[in-house]
Amino acid sequence: MSTAKYVYLFNEGRADMKNLLGGKGANLAEMTNIGLPVPPGFIITTEACIDFYNAGKQFPQGLEEQTLEKVKVLEETTGKKFGDPKTPLLVSVRSGAVISMPGMMDTVLNLGLNDETVEGLAACTGNRRFAYDCYRRFIQMFGDVVLGIDHHKFEAVLEDKKVDRGVRFDNQLTAEDWEEVIEKYKKIINKETGKPFPQDPIEQLFKAIFAVFNSWNTERAIVYRKVHKIPDDLGTAVNVVSMVFGNMGDDSGTGVAFTRNPSTGEKVLYGEYLTNAQGEDVVAGIRTPQPIAKLEQEMPAVYRQFTETCQLLEKHYRDMQDIEFTIERGKLWILQTRNGKRTAQAAIKIAVDMVGEGLITKEEAITRVEPGQLNQLLHRRIDPDSQLEVLAKGLPASPGSASGKVVFDADLAEKLGQEGEKVLLVRMETTPDDIHGIVAAQGVLTSRGGMTSHAAVVARGMGKPCVCGCDEIKIDYGTKQFKVGDLVIKEGDTISIDGSTGHVMLGEVPMIDPELSSEFRKLLEWADEIRDLGVRANADTPEDAAKAREFGAEGIGLTRTEHMFMAQDRLPIVQKMILATTLEERQEALSQLLPMQQDDFYGILKAMQGLPVCIRLLDPPLHEFLPNAEELAVEITKLKLTNGDAEEIKAKEKLLRQVRSLTEFNPMLGHRGCRLGITYPEIYAMQARAIFQATAQLVWEGYEVIPEVEIPLVIEVKELSFLKELVTKIAEEVKEETGVQFRYTVGTMIEMPRAALLAGEIAEQAEFFSFGTNDLTQTTLGFSRDDAEGKFMHHYTERKILKENPFVVLDRKGVGKLMKMAVEEGRKTRPDLLIGICGEHGGEPSSVEFCHIIGLNYVSCSPYRVPIARLAAAQAKIINKDQSK
Ligand code: ADP
Ligand code: MG
Ligand code: MG
Repeated sequence: MSTAKYVYLFNEGRADMKNLLGGKGANLAEMTNIGLPVPPGFIITTEACIDFYNAGKQFPQGLEEQTLEKVKVLEETTGKKFGDPKTPLLVSVRSGAVISMPGMMDTVLNLGLNDETVEGLAACTGNRRFAYDCYRRFIQMFGDVVLGIDHHKFEAVLEDKKVDRGVRFDNQLTAEDWEEVIEKYKKIINKETGKPFPQDPIEQLFKAIFAVFNSWNTERAIVYRKVHKIPDDLGTAVNVVSMVFGNMGDDSGTGVAFTRNPSTGEKVLYGEYLTNAQGEDVVAGIRTPQPIAKLEQEMPAVYRQFTETCQLLEKHYRDMQDIEFTIERGKLWILQTRNGKRTAQAAIKIAVDMVGEGLITKEEAITRVEPGQLNQLLHRRIDPDSQLEVLAKGLPASPGSASGKVVFDADLAEKLGQEGEKVLLVRMETTPDDIHGIVAAQGVLTSRGGMTSHAAVVARGMGKPCVCGCDEIKIDYGTKQFKVGDLVIKEGDTISIDGSTGHVMLGEVPMIDPELSSEFRKLLEWADEIRDLGVRANADTPEDAAKAREFGAEGIGLTRTEHMFMAQDRLPIVQKMILATTLEERQEALSQLLPMQQDDFYGILKAMQGLPVCIRLLDPPLHEFLPNAEELAVEITKLKLTNGDAEEIKAKEKLLRQVRSLTEFNPMLGHRGCRLGITYPEIYAMQARAIFQATAQLVWEGYEVIPEVEIPLVIEVKELSFLKELVTKIAEEVKEETGVQFRYTVGTMIEMPRAALLAGEIAEQAEFFSFGTNDLTQTTLGFSRDDAEGKFMHHYTERKILKENPFVVLDRKGVGKLMKMAVEEGRKTRPDLLIGICGEHGGEPSSVEFCHIIGLNYVSCSPYRVPIARLAAAQAKIINKDQSK
């Protein structure tokens, strides 16, 4: 058996080999091939990493030989040699997954240095300070990444040295200082590992490769993959790149730039750099970097070359790029490019602008924006008219605003977050080890670091507000507080941040509803041109209906009437209606409710004039409108113990008996929905009358209204025929009484497996179907949502027994099968059957795609999710274009 090809030179790869070479490697190869200045190097494939794990964490057969071969080639191309005391070859060993996981895995720079080669490096560059700076960095990174020694141990030595020498920044230390630091580093390594620091470059190389493979499975990498839904079995590639040096003096430097602003999408080069610095320094927030525009003054020729390269890369990849570069004595080197992470706002603007620039098509623009990400823009934001007292100002690193309790460490943030507290993570800077805290926090505030710092990049990726580099706040982790001037803010105090302005404010701030930007509207218009699926909203009030219309809803897919029963002024009447012992008593209460319900329907139908409104008749069991049984029992006991009024006790005891007899238990598969309609037809009759009287009135006033009367929980066509007859009779009566003609339809929810199974028969009566996928999921899977999510669902998804929570992402395999069948059977009976979905799934992108695939007419979701559904529906069409249905 011949072994696989595990190692590729840069000129042997291409951008489309991402799966094999990882994102970083594939792009390094691509850039090499289009002639950009990339230092020579090679890539060890993701396959090698997967085989490494399969072999029980051992290098697979052939990997070492192949690597050594490519090292030879590298030595020839660069004219340098590993371990050569005169012209030593130095490399970086970098991780690079298929899907980029910024900062999640490890990189070692300056590999190849030892006590001998460091002298060679000093001699051939004529710069001792530089050579020893490289060496101390190497030992520190190697110690941390490869040998697993806590990096604080090294940092402490460095801090002491700076204090000792009375300097602030590490670039102020001398060669002699570094030599002393290195001696101490070596001692640490000896002490921690029991062995001296390895001097052989080849040994260093293989140890580093091993460590990069290993870093695929660090805790933080696993958490990151979980948050971003990246599969665990992709593995990482390893990039071995000959070193270029940004730390050779003031004509050298290193930086990161985005070809457009990743926060707003504005078309300006956006980035930061540090002179006389290496690699990690920029993102690590060690010194606060300079804005890229400054480079134009400091090194105009390099700046020009760099901007040209940026434009070229953007055109080549047809997307916004995130580029790492290093300048070595005035020469530009490109070390990485990738499609840049961006906020939702930026994603939309960039996509729409690129269509305008002729770079991409409208279809591509639509697929460039992740629908789930739009949530960020549909959130409430700080009221711009409010008078805010700004406490401090930092960099506007990730837009949106957040309020929460100040927390200084990630573990506590996670703990409080899980308890449902809103917290803001406040740190000097964040590192990949803080990731779980960022996940749990509403937003992040740091006192150090720039717009490309770890906190900023991660927060933007997650759509969380972030303010960075806010150096006015002085954090003291020891006393758990920060100061702004004389003001002290303690852990647990509430503050707010605005990631669009960089403002930090005390307390909570007033928020307002979101509005759609003009680019956002344009993108959604394009989506509307493309999609087949209709998009409706679920709304119970005229206000919600109006909001839904504003966001582009083409109707109401679900109006629930039970909320209307809950209002303070109505509940007593509803309770009277429920507790009535005679029909007359019940009719009396119902006639009081009628005008109120009529008002409700009048408002919603009017707000949605010209568009269909699907109104569901009463659905939940009646006990939901009555006082809680346990509370009643407690009250009665109290009354008895305190010798309370005998009459009152008696009345309460009677009420308790009735409540107990009506109580249903989760998932409430009992006396509710159409079953109530059948046992108490007068309730549904009242609701139908309220709908039709409102309709007649509006038609008479000149509005076009399209009511759809929906019967819930049907399992049998006879339920529907019984209730449809009732509804139709009332409609005829109202037409007769008012002399107004109007249109309406009667249909049903499909939310019980039996209804889906018998959809063909049910369609004989139903003029429309609407999938109630929450109940359909509960009844098909046989567990209640509350129990599942509260008790075991996360074990299921963690163990991958179920890929996703089926209450969030529609279970295509099971529930979806029932839906598909119901669609087919229903349309066989009634070809023009209108079919929609009204569960929460109607606003979840993957579920929307499924609804498109099985040919529903529309999805319906909460008003704020309507834009998401519009975009997702268009994406579903584009992605499934070639597949026949
Ligand atoms: P990450 O994925 O965390 O960005 P990288 O592998 O890109 O890690 O490397 C970290 C830093 O080191 C980056 O700033 C990168 O530009 C720099 N770097 C990597 N390889 C080299 C090299 N051969 N010469 C100079 N700098 C390098
Ligand atoms: Mg990088
Ligand atoms: Mg239901």
